[in-house]
Amino acid sequence: MGSIKRMFNLAAESLKAIDLSPWCISFFEIAGLWVIIFYSSILWLYRTASREGTGLTFDEGYIKYLSHWTPGPATHIMAARDLDTWRKPLFEAGLIGQYEDLGIGYGNISVRRGSRDLFLISGTQTGHLKVTDEQHYSLVTDCDIRSNIVRCSGPVQASSEAMTHAAIYALGDAIGAVVHVHSAELWQRNLDKLPTTDPNVAYGTPDMARELDRLYRMAGFKDAGIAVLAGHDEGLISFGTTLEEAVTRVLRIARELL
Ligand SMILES: [Zn+2]
Repeated sequence: MGSIKRMFNLAAESLKAIDLSPWCISFFEIAGLWVIIFYSSILWLYRTASREGTGLTFDEGYIKYLSHWTPGPATHIMAARDLDTWRKPLFEAGLIGQYEDLGIGYGNISVRRGSRDLFLISGTQTGHLKVTDEQHYSLVTDCDIRSNIVRCSGPVQASSEAMTHAAIYALGDAIGAVVHVHSAELWQRNLDKLPTTDPNVAYGTPDMARELDRLYRMAGFKDAGIAVLAGHDEGLISFGTTLEEAVTRVLRIARELL
């Protein structure tokens, strides 16, 4: 027992004799270096991908979906003008716009174009514009909700919320237009009064697509044509057979506040 104790004491003395402080500094330096390398790689990946028309879409720090954008000239010009016409009252009411303190746009509007999967939607970061034209709209050509992939083409990349628009068009062929707005007052006032999504389901995810489907089939979304997105602060979404119907559904509840 005595020899074991002596060995233990010797080991303890040896450890004390080793000055660990330089190693501590090195450890933190190495850890710091790895953090820098990691974030630089993410930034490089994001920038390279964006240049090549493929963007990882981030929302509040989370990667929501992969967006493949093919830059090209504006198409569906008359539809873009229609979108601007119906966007106007929403912009004037502050339902589409920009959070000035954050410099981030909110709200988007889209219209179905012909076949089931095509729709023209406001481009990313266009919320602050008072007037839009065909240069501010993107054609979503394909949306794979399960794999979280959106493909779009045109002069601008589709809104980062295109995935949810696609999920609504998938609910029925008669749905011709989708409007997504932000309003703290409308959101709070109509939470659980209008059809309301599960607060645990994040916007723009495959889960949200399933949740909208549930709401449509079982919770009155099909008839009301408008829903509150409980898991997306201040967010509401409406649809209609036409842009006029989708926009009017939002404006009607907005007028109730006046
Ligand atoms: Zn939103």
